[in-house]
Amino acid sequence: MTGVVIIGASHAGVQAAASLRQAGWQDKITLIGEETEQPYHRPPLSKAFLTGEKSAEQLSLRGEAFFRDQEIIWLSGVRAERLDPRARKVTTSAGVVGYDRLILATGSRARVLAVPGAELEGVLSLRDIADARRLKSAIGAGGEIVIVGGGYIGLEVAATAAKAGRKVTVLESQAELLTRSAPSEIANSLAQYHRQHGVELRFGVTIEAIEGDAGTVRGVRLAGGERLPADLVLVGIGGIANAELAMEAGLELSAGGIFVDGQTQGNADGLYAIGDCATYRNPFTDSVMRLESVQNAVDQARAAAAHIASQPAPPDTVPWFWSDQYDVKLQIAGIAPSGCRMILRGAPDNNAWSLVCLDGERLAACFSINRPADHMAARRLIAARALIDPHAATDPDIPLLKAVA
Ligand code: FAD
Repeated sequence: MTGVVIIGASHAGVQAAASLRQAGWQDKITLIGEETEQPYHRPPLSKAFLTGEKSAEQLSLRGEAFFRDQEIIWLSGVRAERLDPRARKVTTSAGVVGYDRLILATGSRARVLAVPGAELEGVLSLRDIADARRLKSAIGAGGEIVIVGGGYIGLEVAATAAKAGRKVTVLESQAELLTRSAPSEIANSLAQYHRQHGVELRFGVTIEAIEGDAGTVRGVRLAGGERLPADLVLVGIGGIANAELAMEAGLELSAGGIFVDGQTQGNADGLYAIGDCATYRNPFTDSVMRLESVQNAVDQARAAAAHIASQPAPPDTVPWFWSDQYDVKLQIAGIAPSGCRMILRGAPDNNAWSLVCLDGERLAACFSINRPADHMAARRLIAARALIDPHAATDPDIPLLKAVA
């Protein structure tokens, strides 16, 4: 018996190791991670770590004592380079490791901006703690900041930099912010917050090149020739699943990730994929998707551990996500299908409101700004596939849990 090998020591991989022990798995667990830092919480990298409210030590997911006490072999600074699913072996930078079950938890990486000058010094992306340290010090150094991409990471960094007094411009190729993940009402409201804090938002923009001087970024050139000065360019244009190991081993991919079933099993015996690197058919939307969220990483890790330890499968979990910008906490429960009916709860100008999304009468998603009770209620109602009375749902004084049809 060679036990369970987990590749990737972050939210998904570390949770899988912990859940395996909780589920009574007594055999060997080996956790392989290429980063040398102790596993850490990633969301604060664009939030409390960047603002200085949290130190690197405060981001720790699990310390060395946990791995020791739980008898989990953590191979830090080791990269998995090749898989052989038939022989059940992983070739790593530190030698070959055999496995009985393999969990791929390799996560995702930042998409690179494909324009001349993207390699200049001062052009950064944000994915790991090393990136966050570079970004923090670059924001602290002053100067003008251009953020490429109006997604969550770009907007959280914009908020931090604006609060620190930097001049910030966000360049978005689409007509509004967050086009892939939030309805217009939410996107427009966040745009207003950013403008109130002095952030310039430019939409429908195409970048032609990043320009530099002696190897260091100096500006961004747009299609049409306009040049924006920049001492720092942060590129936040989405993530790409780290699925190459699986692809080279002939595993099935879908929508850019490693395709797994409801128990997180891939199409090779004893092989699982979880977290940002995996795609699956979401039971609430019946569509194949890849989610980049802590909730998804943790819940898929629990599902894989339960299956490996022959425990009952955990119930279907509702996707949820959050983002912090200024004094706004945006919380999202569920996935909004296109064309769903949007119901406003509260007024967008009072800093606490929600947008409830109905698929027919069924609650499909809820976007809440500073209304955590709506978020928690929505998670329960979506899980129960509850039908909603739209009239009751519009009244912010009626608890969402009581707006059931
Ligand atoms: P990752 O966290 O990406 O970890 C994968 C790990 O595998 C990495 O350590 C990587 O180095 C390692 N690895 C990859 N390939 C190999 C290999 N071949 N050999 C060895 N090791 C390997 N989610 C939220 O829900 N809310 C938020 O507010 C939020 N904010 C975020 C802010 C930032 C700046 C970032 C970057 C992400 C944020 N996310 C947020 C997303 C969330 O962090 C991810 O969904 C989560 O980290 C996914 O966990 P994971 O373990 O699947 O992958």
